Amino acid sequence: MSKKVIIIGSGIAGISSSLKLKSYGINSIILDKGNFIGGRISTREVKIGSSSNYFFHGAQFFTAKTHEFKKIISTGVNGKYIKEFGNFDPKRYRGNKTMRDFLLNLSKKLHIQQKVKIIGIKSDNNKIKVLDNKIKEWISYDGVISTLPAPQNCELLNQFPSLQKTLNTGSYHACIALMFTFDEIPQGLKTYYDFYKKPGILSWMASGSNLNVWTAHTNEKFSDLNYHKNKNFLTEKIMSSIKQFFSSSKIKFHGLHVWRYAKVAKKCLGPQIDPKYPVAIAGDFLEGPNVEAAFISGNKAANLIFNRLK
Ligand SMILES: Cc1cc2nc3c(=O)[nH]c(=O)nc-3n(C[C@H](O)[C@H](O)[C@H](O)COP(=O)(O)OP(=O)(O)OC[C@H]3O[C@@H](n4cnc5c(N)ncnc54)[C@H](O)[C@@H]3O)c2cc1C
Repeated sequence: MSKKVIIIGSGIAGISSSLKLKSYGINSIILDKGNFIGGRISTREVKIGSSSNYFFHGAQFFTAKTHEFKKIISTGVNGKYIKEFGNFDPKRYRGNKTMRDFLLNLSKKLHIQQKVKIIGIKSDNNKIKVLDNKIKEWISYDGVISTLPAPQNCELLNQFPSLQKTLNTGSYHACIALMFTFDEIPQGLKTYYDFYKKPGILSWMASGSNLNVWTAHTNEKFSDLNYHKNKNFLTEKIMSSIKQFFSSSKIKFHGLHVWRYAKVAKKCLGPQIDPKYPVAIAGDFLEGPNVEAAFISGNKAANLIFNRLK
């Protein structure tokens, strides 16, 4: 089918939409405003001496319950770009050696362009026109899948009220990620520490590509109350929690990332495709607060667009 489909966002929902369309013989282009693919499955490089080290300051791992995502994982494990993380039941996985390697391998045959922000979408007879901040001209497509977090998607899709209605029903928790390294790796260090339901402001702390690079995440309560506050204030607060935990080690601060829309608090309910136009939405906000859910929503959006364009 020689149709021209655009996917907005190179997170896992965008990648899975594009892979699914490809399986139907439809080539799509993914455009994303960020510097790297992956969206909230993010990797940041830091050089220590001459060696590259990687923080994972978004999703820390992924799990698989569905047949579709289990297949992605077993292909990745066989291809050595996914590895098991920790010793959990059900199993948890990470990219090998970084989260970005996982996504780069998964999307090898896809057409993705970074650093392009979509700033408008409108209908034009049976086609959809899209405006970006690079070419700055309206370009016509046969179909669109938009995978931005729900509130941002809602703003972009202001010409499509029924999708806006769906997008307005959900909500997100924020999360603040602080990246740090040790001057000397402490003895007996584990690869992760889980603070779920424990007092304090942290939810989780885990190493990245090796035991020297770490990310600490704040819990939902602290994040939702404080994400908009001054970065120096947040850095001081989080660093003092980490220092209490590793009281005998010297810790070096490397960066702070505030995720306003981190984890789905309430899923969006309603139609995933516009009743009239070939515009669909995909993202974790439709299925649940994790990587696998976002992947599944991308598959569903691709099925809806394929059926609409048939
Ligand atoms: C701190 C944190 C920790 C997490 N931990 C886990 C975990 O351990 N396990 C787990 O399974 N899940 C975790 N999650 C959730 C998981 O990361 C998300 O559910 C999943 O990655 C969402 O994928 P997505 O494709 O729906 O959205 P995103 O990854 O947000 O992708 C949307 C993309 O759209 C792009 N975009 C936005 N606006 C525009 C525009 N105007 N034009 C072009 N592009 C645009 C963005 O750059 C982004 O790349 C975590 C999330 C965060 C933030």
